Amino acid sequence: MKKFCVLGHDIGYTRSPALHRAIFRFLGEDGTYDVADVPEERLAETVRRLLEEYDGFNVTKPYKEKVAALLGERDPVNTVRKGGKCTSTDPVGFITDYTDTFGIPCGKILLLGAGGAAKSVAQALSAYPAVQLCLFNRTPEKAAALASACGGTAVDNTAGRYDAVINATSLGLHGEQAAPEELDFRRVRYAYDLIYAPPVTPFLRRARENGVKTQNGLGMLVWQAIAAQEFWRDAPFADGVRREMAAAVKKELEE
Ligand code: NAP
Repeated sequence: MKKFCVLGHDIGYTRSPALHRAIFRFLGEDGTYDVADVPEERLAETVRRLLEEYDGFNVTKPYKEKVAALLGERDPVNTVRKGGKCTSTDPVGFITDYTDTFGIPCGKILLLGAGGAAKSVAQALSAYPAVQLCLFNRTPEKAAALASACGGTAVDNTAGRYDAVINATSLGLHGEQAAPEELDFRRVRYAYDLIYAPPVTPFLRRARENGVKTQNGLGMLVWQAIAAQEFWRDAPFADGVRREMAAAVKKELEE
């Protein structure tokens, strides 16, 4: 039986076990998926142990950068397989769900945030030459650094017309509004929020009230998990299987 887990700290909220167990059920497999919630002083020894005992593991808050450094990677990682090979499946998770929902990204896109999740989004969008990416963040220096790493322009004001606005800040998890006051949703076509709990954040509510088509981050979560399973197996699922799996798992998580 294959063994997997998620490594993080203070992650009582994590939906990864439910997600991966739903994938095993869909595939008719009896794999296990545990939670390794450890403080930082136990991180290095835990990574060594997980590499020995598990077929693969996910990495979440606050260790995506620290585990990458331990494994000799420069960019943050969220998926590690036996032997220590690692990757981040967040960019592909985001772009798959975004494209399924809104079509191929193009035009002027405003990205709110400049943390790890925003980096995954900016990386994914950098593959689309028809995207003109604007980056806005509370700490402007981080938006400028992300713009120079992934392309795009750091902005200090969000007024204007956008084909899409993406919230990759953590604002909205506890009812806070992520959209700056001057952002006029009447001039926006699509709004995507990486947050999925709650399913409708104040950001998405304000967008909907202005007739904007919206999507939360549950699809991204599901697609990054499917991509992690593919990475662990070192083999892609057939496209039809992958799509059926995503629909079944998403439905199960929504119930
Ligand atoms: P992070 O690295 O801690 O970054 C947090 C971002 O939010 C930063 O840009 C930060 O701005 C901004 N922020 C935090 N508090 C703020 C405040 N009071 N006012 C204005 N800006 C504030 O976190 P992350 O890993 O990027 O995650 C961000 C969100 O994405 C989380 O809600 C997470 O749940 C979600 N996420 C979803 C998925 C998915 O699969 N759907 C995957 C990954 C992450 P500063 O730079 O100024 O601090």
